[in-house]
Amino acid sequence: MDCNQKKTVSGVTLGCKLNYAETSSILQNLIERGWVVAGPKEHADLIIVQSCAVTKQAEQKCRQKIRGLVRRNPGSRVVVIGCYAQLSPGLIAGIEGVDAVLGNDEKFDSTHYMDVAAAPHPVGTPVVCVSDKGGFGIAHRACSLPSGSEGERTRAFLKLQDGCDYGCAYCTIPLARGRSRSVPPEVVLQQARMLADSGYREIVLTGVNTGDYRSGATGFTELLRMLEDVDVARIRISSLEPDILTDELVALVAASRNIVPHFHLPLQNGSDRILSSMRRRYRTADYRKRLLGAVEAIEDCAVGADVMVGYPGESEDDFRETVRFIEGLPLAYLHVFSCSLRPGTALAREVERGERLRVEPQAASKRSSILKEIGERKAAEFRQRYVGRGCRVLFEECRQAGNGMLRWSGYSRNYLPVWVEIPSGGKSLSGRELPVAIVGAGLQLEGRLLS
Ligand code: SF4
Repeated sequence: MDCNQKKTVSGVTLGCKLNYAETSSILQNLIERGWVVAGPKEHADLIIVQSCAVTKQAEQKCRQKIRGLVRRNPGSRVVVIGCYAQLSPGLIAGIEGVDAVLGNDEKFDSTHYMDVAAAPHPVGTPVVCVSDKGGFGIAHRACSLPSGSEGERTRAFLKLQDGCDYGCAYCTIPLARGRSRSVPPEVVLQQARMLADSGYREIVLTGVNTGDYRSGATGFTELLRMLEDVDVARIRISSLEPDILTDELVALVAASRNIVPHFHLPLQNGSDRILSSMRRRYRTADYRKRLLGAVEAIEDCAVGADVMVGYPGESEDDFRETVRFIEGLPLAYLHVFSCSLRPGTALAREVERGERLRVEPQAASKRSSILKEIGERKAAEFRQRYVGRGCRVLFEECRQAGNGMLRWSGYSRNYLPVWVEIPSGGKSLSGRELPVAIVGAGLQLEGRLLS
């Protein structure tokens, strides 16, 4: 390669929104050091894979992804970072073709990437650089690359916080990411302004436990109050633990011009007995009270929830309680997943000691199907409420509709997917927030532009 030619890099992210924010931040850092991000089908000298360890399935998906990338990109160096790399570095380093494994503390240091890129290829023994303390340092940088189509700047992820102190019995994330710590408010504000100035229309606030933000005297609600002044159309909170959805926060969102009416509120289970085993910080009555408080006070508020099935010890009665509880909630969508026993967690130890019995996979899968069906019905009912009404849509993606028309899609403020058709050759809608009349509801809402 011409030594004056710039090195190319690409990022592949698995897992949560925080991972996306971090990959973008790392790429941005490398761009500032003279690297170029390779296009989707272009060769990249370096491929950075941000991995996830939230479930066994997530880990399996990571391994498959890494093997596929190694196979399809014989001339590229592959560096694996993220929670799976932090928790199982030896296993990742054992995957043929992996050149380096970096821990959660090391992944923000660009010198590691430079070293891997400069080393003779193949590297031979992979470089493993994972500090034991499990990501206790904090990367204050939190920046992003475009997530909209055609390189337009629509939505960006902004990292506020890392780690978690909540200690849920099943969760491996604190083992990978350490204790909760927050980015100072002045840095968050500066980054948010920078994203707004560079044209992003929506900023998604991310973290491991985003609402647990605390820096000096500034808590999450105070930080949101400061962020409201940033000149951006939308601020979205990625996920919020239920105990953080206080009346004060609800009142702030209800009156806000740019914090959108959408909460992702993990429920995990609708049985108090199981919530207690999980060491969650609320019970069903608290969850219901907070959810109803938000839905009643905030116009068009959409609340979605994660629910876990097959938690060791979850009986048929517990599951029936969960179904009853969820049926009674005005939820906009459900994300259902099966419990995955993670090594090193309190739950894994309890199961090992015989204190909790595993749920048979068949029973867990049946429970999952039942809840998924309820989730789909609830989501369809929620979408249906919008037919015949108007909403504002921030457009992101476009494709040919096949009838000489272009199909543009985007999201309402409360995160409903909406599409409209306009004639080919019309003005780009990318990154524009426009009023739309909703005329139909399938898996997405069908709309007509009002302007
Ligand atoms: S709140 Fe619970 S589930 Fe969420 S990251 Fe913290 S420990 Fe894990």
